Amino acid sequence: MGFCRGVRAAIDTAVRASRLRARVYCLGPLIHNSQVVDRLSRMGLRVVHKVEDLDSGPVLIPSHGVDATTVEQAQTRQLEVIDATCATVRHAQNQALELQEKGYRVVVVGDPDHPEVKGIVSRARGATVVNGPHDIDELPQNLRLGVVGQTTLAQSEFVATVAQILARPFREVRVVNTLCGEVAARLAAAVELCRCVDVMFVLGGRHSANTRALAEACRKQGVPTYHLEDWSSFCYRHIEGRRIAGVTAGASTPDWIIDEFVEQLEQVEVAELANRK
Ligand code: SF4
Repeated sequence: MGFCRGVRAAIDTAVRASRLRARVYCLGPLIHNSQVVDRLSRMGLRVVHKVEDLDSGPVLIPSHGVDATTVEQAQTRQLEVIDATCATVRHAQNQALELQEKGYRVVVVGDPDHPEVKGIVSRARGATVVNGPHDIDELPQNLRLGVVGQTTLAQSEFVATVAQILARPFREVRVVNTLCGEVAARLAAAVELCRCVDVMFVLGGRHSANTRALAEACRKQGVPTYHLEDWSSFCYRHIEGRRIAGVTAGASTPDWIIDEFVEQLEQVEVAELANRK
């Protein structure tokens, strides 16, 4: 659980850049964790949402990437660009472009509002986002489809959507697995943990897609699951009548949040036992 290599690398890049310059601008939050973003802002990293808002750089591209137009705009304005796009996200972007160049209509399975998905779509002309069966029904069936997925999707979700695509008579369907192995490993570990606990806490940012997927996977195991940002959202009723708690965390959740949560949870248990004596 906790930080993946893409997030670690993005934070290292941001910290190094902030040490060398008085101000660095990040195009959207560096990662989907507000506590980390707040810490970085104290080091001089400012979040901006549009390149047009900037007269000077440098600009940092977050781990989940940005759309191609934004990069072009930054280059046109001759801003220094520091690219912290995760290698796995970059791979998904490149695969989408390659499929489009080979004549496929690119289909990106994922959340159309997620910046990573917008970034992938922007690199493949005519690409379509599929977020449910209704989106598949709108695709003309004489197409050759090249399918990629948002990197943080659960494998089961990607496979289910691919199966729905294959159930329709498209001319050709080519699927490239762009899912992140780090996310898959966290999901598998969380699902395994669900077997031996009777309540699960999933720690991570509200907007973190992989944290939400973790919480969803735990709920599907039938275990009461709480997606919390940190200890401040904990409530005693979460553990009332429960004996064993499991804790996991998304790929953008820092160790200090996990450690504090576990320590506090153990204290609750100690206090509870003391009360019973
Ligand atoms: S979860 Fe995977 S794709 Fe996303 S930043 Fe981490 S390593 Fe990269």
